[in-house]
Amino acid sequence: MPISPASQPINLFSDWKAELSQCITSAEQLLQQLGLRTEDLSVAQQAAATFPLKVPQSFVERMEFGNPMDPLLKQVLPVEAELDSNPNYSHDPVQESQYNPVSGIVHKYRNRVLMIVSPNCAINCRYCFRRHFPYQENRQSKQQWLQALDYLRNKPEINEVIYSGGDPLAANDHFLSWLTAQIESIAHIKRLRIHTRLPVVIPSRIDSQLLDWLRSTRLKSIVVLHINHANEIDRSLHNATSKLLDAGIRVLNQTVLLKGVNDSASALVALSEKLFDTDIMPYYLHLLDPVQGAGHFDIPHHLALDLYRQMQAELPGFLVPKLVRENPGEKSKTIQGS
Ligand SMILES: *Cc1c(COP(=O)(O)O)cnc(C)c1O
Ligand code: SF4
Repeated sequence: MPISPASQPINLFSDWKAELSQCITSAEQLLQQLGLRTEDLSVAQQAAATFPLKVPQSFVERMEFGNPMDPLLKQVLPVEAELDSNPNYSHDPVQESQYNPVSGIVHKYRNRVLMIVSPNCAINCRYCFRRHFPYQENRQSKQQWLQALDYLRNKPEINEVIYSGGDPLAANDHFLSWLTAQIESIAHIKRLRIHTRLPVVIPSRIDSQLLDWLRSTRLKSIVVLHINHANEIDRSLHNATSKLLDAGIRVLNQTVLLKGVNDSASALVALSEKLFDTDIMPYYLHLLDPVQGAGHFDIPHHLALDLYRQMQAELPGFLVPKLVRENPGEKSKTIQGS
């Protein structure tokens, strides 16, 4: 595909690993770059001590200079409100630890499993329900991956594997290509789904190495991106999506409903519209999981339903994501407001 001058930041020579290693990890540096003062925001070093600040430069460039309320900034800046303790919020809100039959696998729904392919992320999202996940225990040896694959082989009801994490695309292509080839050899697995935020925050992740193994697998593949606000979408992301589409991969999006980030009908409608312009289909709008430290992002349930109805009134049905919540013990996500 020809690379236009406007897409130079993701030219063929750029390397996503270099961008990943150059993530901003200091609140001072981040705020300085945005022309903001630490005193203006309730930045909390203590919150950053347990879950560090981490954001790629390319994502920072999409934040608005001088705006302390920027919806992208809010997703990454550690603030004092995270330290509030709330008895209704837990460290494992969706009770994943109960569904970890072998290391590296979360099997909760009947015919699809999560594979925890990488413990790392390119960005640390403050609302993330995995902020307390015991990733160290899920760091896999080759032997453990073979055991995980055996688990899949012995469960004929599983027809879809979902690469998850952390962020699965933080893993290198050599490993992903090996793992995918192993999964492909299991006849009852038909689909491969990749849940990732990495191409959103570092679009150069969609490079020729990644496309090579994705294109060559017999598995029908779907990439589910994670975008919360229209401002996260820029030309370089559109370029990356186009490459996925050209490789025959469907691209969907899931969003988390977040106070102060996207809790208005206009923000949600603008997001759906922009996703469609970028050839991405809205899939899920998640209600926040009650994770300790993220209470300040929560929205009362009746307001969430209200926002959803407004979206329905302003968008064609195919641009309205499903409003869902993850309820521990359910056989699927639970659709809200129907
Ligand atoms: C969300 C989720 C899935 C995928 O569910 P879909 O409704 O098919 O998108 C699978 N496993 C777990 C544990 C999940 O949380
Ligand atoms: S798992 Fe996803 S939501 Fe959580 S920190 Fe990583 S990229 Fe953000």
